[in-house]
Amino acid sequence: MVYGKVTQSVVDELTSIFGPEDVITDKELLESYSFDESTVAPHLPEVVVKPESTQEVSLTMKLANEKRIPVVARSGGTCVTGGAVPIHGGIVISFEKMNRIVEIDEENLMVIVEPGIFIMDLHAEMEKRGLLYPPDPGQKSSCLGGNVNTNAGGMRGVKYGVTRDFVEALEVVLPAGDVIHLGRKTVKNSTGYDLKDLIIGSEGTLGVTTRMTLRLVPLPKITTTLYVPFNSFADAVKTIAEIIRRKIVPPALEFVDQSSILVAERFLGRPMPHNSAPAYVLIRLEGNIQEEVDSTFEAVGELCLENGAIDVLVADTAESQQKIWEGRSCIIDAAKAEGVVELLDAVVPRNKLLVFLEGLYKLAGDVGLNVQNFGHAGDGNVHTNILKENMSDEEWNEKVPRFCEEAYRLSLSLGGNISGEHGIGLIRKSFLPLALGVNSQDSAVQIDLMQKIKRIFDPNNILNPDKVFDL
Ligand SMILES: Cc1cc2nc3c(=O)[nH]c(=O)nc-3n(C[C@H](O)[C@H](O)[C@H](O)COP(=O)(O)OP(=O)(O)OC[C@H]3O[C@@H](n4cnc5c(N)ncnc54)[C@H](O)[C@@H]3O)c2cc1C
Repeated sequence: MVYGKVTQSVVDELTSIFGPEDVITDKELLESYSFDESTVAPHLPEVVVKPESTQEVSLTMKLANEKRIPVVARSGGTCVTGGAVPIHGGIVISFEKMNRIVEIDEENLMVIVEPGIFIMDLHAEMEKRGLLYPPDPGQKSSCLGGNVNTNAGGMRGVKYGVTRDFVEALEVVLPAGDVIHLGRKTVKNSTGYDLKDLIIGSEGTLGVTTRMTLRLVPLPKITTTLYVPFNSFADAVKTIAEIIRRKIVPPALEFVDQSSILVAERFLGRPMPHNSAPAYVLIRLEGNIQEEVDSTFEAVGELCLENGAIDVLVADTAESQQKIWEGRSCIIDAAKAEGVVELLDAVVPRNKLLVFLEGLYKLAGDVGLNVQNFGHAGDGNVHTNILKENMSDEEWNEKVPRFCEEAYRLSLSLGGNISGEHGIGLIRKSFLPLALGVNSQDSAVQIDLMQKIKRIFDPNNILNPDKVFDL
């Protein structure tokens, strides 16, 4: 596909829409928009625009569509799949100025936000009012625009679900500039095909999201965190399964291996509560009545000890809990601070977690790679940091795809999938046919449907082209 270029006359037209301050063409400034948090090589956009209204986004898309210029929407830029990298240059629409909470509706327990609001700011504002927006991706400087378009998960998935479960309505600018409104401020909707759900997780390939209506829940008054070291992953995973089997559904149920704890300690420059065990389970419990939380905590604590926990360390102050979750959240950043990291995001049925983890460690040994495994155990979602360390580029480029393919084949053979929450973007695109359907015919039909949907939304293929699949 040959795309149009951002000529001086295009820059002039954009300047007439935005004013000169919000149209960036300076090469040094463009560099900040050339990459995301993946290993995909940076690529400079030709121009960046910073809208303050849906109208400006619509005019930008009209112009881009007319001139066949590729466009990438960018919110926090923390994507780990290359989804936010403008691989064809063109226009980046950066939502850094559309970062407002438009309305907090406490009667309907809904909040309406713009795409550029940081998830940490939304959480803080809601918590002040005794409200909770449950999706909680580890990267706190990701934004709602990216969260919705990747269908982000995070640490409260096991009890509450993922981003999709909390999006009630969206305002979307289509590639030709039309503005559509999908869904309403209602908790139910059974009115025609659910195009809102098609946009959620579409990785910025179908439309540009400019406003979202999100569902809230009451903020639980009491939380406690358990930090539980185990002598083996087998014991840790057995315990996780047992917690679920006993019908206890904590909001967060995470696992972390020792190497992940140690890298977090080096990154934060402070110790975690314990660091000498091979496996850890982190559990957050919550409720509104102290006795109820205490009795769940005792039941879970006993269960951990019965299943081989070395100890059950309890954090009940806000500060001590925050320190534990900060340690868990920083593992990806911590590993990246020490060198090149490729990150996997496979997901398996919860009862296959141990087989999958054992398989991953064995595979890493066979291929000759060092890995750190951690993730959302309650969701069966395993993050694997593959560490380059001192390996040559040649060796790395040979080993990583081999490991990834085998790891994906393993997760699929266990009834799982290749991404639980990060998406496909560029780095997993070649594995999508393998992952869809139960056989190659099933997969081919699904890819064909996706390609047709993309062509209907975006006939000129200008919106985040060549991500997720090829046309
Ligand atoms: C340390 C670390 C921890 C992480 N932990 C988690 C985790 O626990 N759970 C999880 O799910 N993810 C996690 N991620 C991945 C990442 O934070 C999420 O994918 C997040 O949702 C991306 O949001 P963003 O605002 O940074 O999006 P961006 O990087 O800006 O964009 C992501 C994708 O969405 C598209 N997009 C962005 N804004 C719009 C818009 N307004 N309209 C249309 N398309 C748009 C982009 O084109 C791109 O394809 C983590 C990443 C890091 C680096």
